[in-house]
Amino acid sequence: MEAISFNERTMVIDLQCCNSCGDCIIACPLSAIKGLAASREFVHTSLIYSEAYTPSEKELLIYKKRGMNAIQITDIPLNPQWDFVLSKTNRILKLLGEKPIKVVRNSNEEKLSRRDLFSKLQKEGKQLAKNMAPVSWQIEEDEWNLTRYFQDFQFYLVEIDKNKCTLCQACFSFCPQKLFSLAGSVLHIDHEKCVNCIACTDICSEEAIRIRPKIKEKSDSVESVYTNKCQDCGQLFYSFQEEKEKCHICVDRDPEWLSPY
Ligand code: SF4
Ligand code: SF4
Repeated sequence: MEAISFNERTMVIDLQCCNSCGDCIIACPLSAIKGLAASREFVHTSLIYSEAYTPSEKELLIYKKRGMNAIQITDIPLNPQWDFVLSKTNRILKLLGEKPIKVVRNSNEEKLSRRDLFSKLQKEGKQLAKNMAPVSWQIEEDEWNLTRYFQDFQFYLVEIDKNKCTLCQACFSFCPQKLFSLAGSVLHIDHEKCVNCIACTDICSEEAIRIRPKIKEKSDSVESVYTNKCQDCGQLFYSFQEEKEKCHICVDRDPEWLSPY
């Protein structure tokens, strides 16, 4: 619907275009958007196919982790968009060591919204609810973070170009997931925490950081860093190069300007 756009530095939300689909809530890597959750229908552990929307891989992965294991169709097969997303999701699930999501035909089970399902389960008693509801469909706004569900895996690889990076630490501070830690002579990068929000690539003036999709068992990188003394301002600074003589501020500073220290 293109209800969200950017006008230079301002985000514009066109309320006339917004149809409350909830897709932005699911897509936002930082759960920064609040509002009504996307409306989806389930029967037990199946998501009911609807042409009204196309889920993302992220959405299907989260439903899968919460117990959904099939997409239920009637006589109409999945449209190409759903088919594409499902194939991609199943490829990811394979990498994650999980079973694929199947497509099943409607078995004339009653269609229930999430709310209906829960009230039905409540009525039918706790034990029955226990047996019938392996899935917890109530997903809060801040629960659309994949890293919460697949904690043994990473989805992205954070790459720092050591020849360009000045270790100014701007991205370390801006990273909402706090996946960088610099202590002593070591920089740790916890790749599994990355949600691809790209705050780091936006802030880096050196274009020294890149986020690549990479699904694998989680790992952290350890990089050696040096603590050098700036020959201009005398401050200690971190660098990937032992021979570096000036801190990142003095490197760019006009010699006519006063030292910031
Ligand atoms: S913002 Fe860029 S230059 Fe600064 S530490 Fe991060 S990657 Fe390195
Ligand atoms: S994209 Fe960058 S800022 Fe965002 S979580 Fe990953 S490393 Fe942190």
